[in-house]
Amino acid sequence: MSEALTRLDAMSEPSIFTRILQGEIPAEIVAETENVFAIRDIAPQAPVHLLVIPKTAQYRDVVALAAGDPALLAEVVDLAHRVAAEHADGDFRLVFNTGEGAGQTVFHVHAHVLAGGLNEKSLGG
Ligand code: AMP
Repeated sequence: MSEALTRLDAMSEPSIFTRILQGEIPAEIVAETENVFAIRDIAPQAPVHLLVIPKTAQYRDVVALAAGDPALLAEVVDLAHRVAAEHADGDFRLVFNTGEGAGQTVFHVHAHVLAGGLNEKSLGG
Protein backbone atom coordinates (compact mmCIF):
# COMPACT_ATOMS: atom_id res chain seq x y z
CA MET A 1 0.00 0.00 0.00
CA SER A 2 1.34 3.48 -0.82
CA GLU A 3 2.21 5.79 2.04
CA ALA A 4 -0.73 8.04 1.15
CA LEU A 5 -3.15 5.10 1.15
CA THR A 6 -1.79 3.84 4.46
CA ARG A 7 -2.45 7.27 5.91
CA LEU A 8 -5.98 7.34 4.51
CA ASP A 9 -6.61 3.88 5.94
CA ALA A 10 -5.41 4.99 9.37
CA MET A 11 -7.68 8.05 9.19
CA SER A 12 -10.75 5.90 8.52
CA GLU A 13 -10.19 3.85 11.70
CA PRO A 14 -12.45 5.02 14.54
CA SER A 15 -10.45 7.10 17.00
CA ILE A 16 -9.95 5.88 20.56
CA PHE A 17 -12.46 8.53 21.69
CA THR A 18 -15.09 7.35 19.21
CA ARG A 19 -14.57 3.82 20.50
CA ILE A 20 -15.01 5.05 24.09
CA LEU A 21 -18.20 6.90 23.10
CA GLN A 22 -19.53 3.75 21.45
CA GLY A 23 -18.76 1.72 24.59
CA GLU A 24 -16.09 -0.43 22.93
CA ILE A 25 -13.38 0.78 25.31
CA PRO A 26 -14.20 1.35 28.99
CA ALA A 27 -13.83 4.88 30.33
CA GLU A 28 -15.56 7.01 32.89
CA ILE A 29 -17.79 9.49 31.06
CA VAL A 30 -18.18 12.27 33.63
CA ALA A 31 -20.41 14.60 31.58
CA GLU A 32 -22.20 14.60 28.27
CA THR A 33 -24.26 16.97 26.15
CA GLU A 34 -25.80 16.48 22.72
CA ASN A 35 -22.52 17.18 20.92
CA VAL A 36 -19.72 16.90 23.47
CA PHE A 37 -18.59 14.52 26.21
CA ALA A 38 -15.98 14.48 28.96
CA ILE A 39 -13.88 11.64 30.37
CA ARG A 40 -11.12 11.25 32.93
CA ASP A 41 -7.68 11.10 31.33
CA ILE A 42 -6.15 7.66 31.83
CA ALA A 43 -2.74 9.20 32.64
CA PRO A 44 -3.51 12.30 34.73
CA GLN A 45 -1.02 15.18 34.66
CA ALA A 46 -2.83 17.24 37.32
CA PRO A 47 -5.01 16.49 40.38
CA VAL A 48 -8.01 16.85 38.07
CA HIS A 49 -7.33 15.94 34.43
CA LEU A 50 -10.35 15.57 32.19
CA LEU A 51 -10.70 15.48 28.42
CA VAL A 52 -13.57 17.29 26.69
CA ILE A 53 -14.26 15.85 23.27
CA PRO A 54 -16.70 16.62 20.45
CA LYS A 55 -18.69 13.50 19.59
CA THR A 56 -17.87 14.00 15.93
CA ALA A 57 -14.42 12.81 14.87
CA GLN A 58 -14.53 15.17 11.90
CA TYR A 59 -11.99 17.66 13.28
CA ARG A 60 -8.43 16.51 13.89
CA ASP A 61 -7.36 19.48 16.00
CA VAL A 62 -8.53 22.78 17.46
CA VAL A 63 -7.48 24.76 14.38
CA ALA A 64 -9.73 22.63 12.15
CA LEU A 65 -12.53 22.81 14.73
CA ALA A 66 -12.35 26.61 15.03
CA ALA A 67 -12.43 26.99 11.26
CA GLY A 68 -15.13 24.38 10.66
CA ASP A 69 -17.52 24.77 13.58
CA PRO A 70 -16.77 27.61 16.01
CA ALA A 71 -20.04 27.00 17.86
CA LEU A 72 -18.92 23.45 18.63
CA LEU A 73 -15.61 24.82 19.94
CA ALA A 74 -17.62 27.10 22.21
CA GLU A 75 -19.54 24.05 23.45
CA VAL A 76 -16.22 22.35 24.28
CA VAL A 77 -15.16 25.40 26.33
CA ASP A 78 -18.54 25.53 28.05
CA LEU A 79 -18.40 21.87 29.09
CA ALA A 80 -14.79 22.36 30.23
CA HIS A 81 -15.97 25.15 32.52
CA ARG A 82 -18.80 22.99 33.86
CA VAL A 83 -16.64 19.98 34.68
CA ALA A 84 -13.94 22.19 36.22
CA ALA A 85 -16.61 23.57 38.55
CA GLU A 86 -17.95 20.08 39.32
CA HIS A 87 -14.57 18.41 39.89
CA ALA A 88 -12.50 21.33 41.24
CA ASP A 89 -13.07 24.95 42.22
CA GLY A 90 -13.98 26.14 38.72
CA ASP A 91 -10.54 27.47 37.80
CA PHE A 92 -8.83 25.50 35.09
CA ARG A 93 -6.21 25.37 32.39
CA LEU A 94 -7.39 24.37 28.92
CA VAL A 95 -4.81 22.71 26.66
CA PHE A 96 -5.17 21.66 23.05
CA ASN A 97 -2.06 19.84 21.93
CA THR A 98 -1.95 20.62 18.23
CA GLY A 99 0.34 18.54 16.02
CA GLU A 100 2.71 15.70 16.77
CA GLY A 101 5.52 18.11 17.66
CA ALA A 102 3.34 19.53 20.44
CA GLY A 103 2.56 16.09 21.83
CA GLN A 104 -0.77 15.40 20.14
CA THR A 105 -1.26 11.65 19.93
CA VAL A 106 -5.00 11.37 19.19
CA PHE A 107 -6.13 13.19 16.05
CA HIS A 108 -9.74 13.63 17.15
CA VAL A 109 -9.83 17.10 18.68
CA HIS A 110 -9.98 17.16 22.48
CA ALA A 111 -9.35 19.70 25.21
CA HIS A 112 -7.34 18.79 28.29
CA VAL A 113 -8.95 20.34 31.38
CA LEU A 114 -6.33 20.62 34.12
CA ALA A 115 -7.50 21.77 37.51
CA GLY A 116 -7.20 21.36 41.26
CA GLY A 117 -4.00 22.60 42.89
CA LEU A 118 -2.00 23.52 39.80
CA ASN A 119 1.43 25.11 40.11
CA GLU A 120 0.60 28.72 39.42
CA LYS A 121 3.02 29.47 36.61
CA SER A 122 3.86 26.05 35.24
CA LEU A 123 2.71 25.51 31.68
CA GLY A 124 3.60 21.83 31.78
CA GLY A 125 6.07 20.19 29.43
P1 AMP B 1 -2.99 14.14 23.26
O1 AMP B 1 -1.64 13.55 23.55
O2 AMP B 1 -3.10 15.63 23.47
O3 AMP B 1 -3.48 13.71 21.88
O4 AMP B 1 -3.97 13.55 24.34
C1 AMP B 1 -4.45 12.24 24.32
C2 AMP B 1 -4.80 11.91 25.74
O5 AMP B 1 -5.67 10.79 25.73
C3 AMP B 1 -3.60 11.55 26.62
O6 AMP B 1 -3.52 12.46 27.71
C4 AMP B 1 -3.92 10.12 27.08
O7 AMP B 1 -3.52 9.90 28.42
C5 AMP B 1 -5.42 10.06 26.91
N1 AMP B 1 -5.94 8.72 26.71
C6 AMP B 1 -5.50 7.79 25.83
N2 AMP B 1 -6.25 6.66 25.93
C7 AMP B 1 -7.19 6.91 26.87
C8 AMP B 1 -8.26 6.14 27.43
N3 AMP B 1 -8.51 4.89 27.03
N4 AMP B 1 -9.02 6.72 28.39
C9 AMP B 1 -8.78 7.98 28.81
N5 AMP B 1 -7.78 8.76 28.31
C10 AMP B 1 -7.00 8.23 27.37
